[in-house]
Amino acid sequence: MPTTALPRTQPAITSFEQTFNDWAWEDATALIHSRTAADVERALQNPTRDLRDFAALISPAAAPYLERMAALANQATLRRFGRVIQLYAPLYLSNECQNICTYCGFSMDNALERKTLNPAEILRETEVLKAMGYEHVLLVTGEANRSVGMPYFEQAFNLLRPHFSQLSLEVQPLEEQDYRRLTELGLHSVLVYQETYRQETYKVHHPKGRKSSFAYRLDTPDRLGRAGVHKIGLGVLIGLEDWRSDSFFTAMHLRYLSRTYWRTKYSISFPRLRPHAGGLQPTSIMSDRELVQLITAYRLLDPDVELSLSTRETERFRDNVIPLGVTTFSAGSKTNPGGYACAEESLEQFEISDERSPAEVAAVIRKSGYQPVWKDWDRGYVG
Ligand code: SF4
Repeated sequence: MPTTALPRTQPAITSFEQTFNDWAWEDATALIHSRTAADVERALQNPTRDLRDFAALISPAAAPYLERMAALANQATLRRFGRVIQLYAPLYLSNECQNICTYCGFSMDNALERKTLNPAEILRETEVLKAMGYEHVLLVTGEANRSVGMPYFEQAFNLLRPHFSQLSLEVQPLEEQDYRRLTELGLHSVLVYQETYRQETYKVHHPKGRKSSFAYRLDTPDRLGRAGVHKIGLGVLIGLEDWRSDSFFTAMHLRYLSRTYWRTKYSISFPRLRPHAGGLQPTSIMSDRELVQLITAYRLLDPDVELSLSTRETERFRDNVIPLGVTTFSAGSKTNPGGYACAEESLEQFEISDERSPAEVAAVIRKSGYQPVWKDWDRGYVG
């Protein structure tokens, strides 16, 4: 008797796009701006918080509650993370890019000398970063798929893996199988910022190149989740759009991902648009006070999410937010390829505000009663 093969049922592929499409930008903006002091009080009292609470906490109505938010965020961070700040350094491997992004010094339409580090140059950068004490580096490139694609990344991982305990990536969005392959080679986390969740605005700032596909970028964290990457970093470029609405969609994305890929860890960054060679000015300015409001709101929404602040922010601001919920700092950053080993000036991706050395930043962290952590992960943990 012939056996009839049963049809194979594939698990349905979920995507954030389905959740995202349920919300119009204007509805999110209206929700945030309709929040009242009573909504903020309720959000502060809730033991666990949802997206409506988050909308209240980032709303203008929450501005008078900043001290209470900061105190609660401090307690939540101490409970989950203790008194530690993790340190990492970006390692720029290439400034080649085939995209036009209106806000970036590496944009294809900017005339600058393009450089991609060769293996010897990568090892020279490694030597300097190791001497600074780093165990965690974030590999950064532009988007030049032919010269800086998977073969280049595989070579870089093979070179760097023996030297660092944590390798993170901030490069062009890749395919799921590429993330799986790089995970085998030691990839720990991937940062992929949506830049803005407002599609019309995204189009204006990404007119040319593969990055102009809003949908492909939006789907990237799902590919990362399916590939089993240990940690996914989200964020928007604050200043391209209204920061409150963009942060609401970031929080929605975080919520969706942490429920769908619950084994994965998550981090959020808050890059504020800064001056660069192209000269784009922010359309929406976020004050320091508002950035504190946002940092504490994320902490109150999600006690487990890592919150990362880069050297785009000033020394004073970074020192002051140490107790408010952040968990990760970059320090001593160079944002041009070869910038650590070679003092030669070349165009940076963005300007640095906090120019202190990693040792100086670590000393400030200690002075605040916190411990700077250079290594919080070892490949041995995964066997
Ligand atoms: S943001 Fe990234 S993709 Fe856009 S121009 Fe800069 S390096 Fe290229």
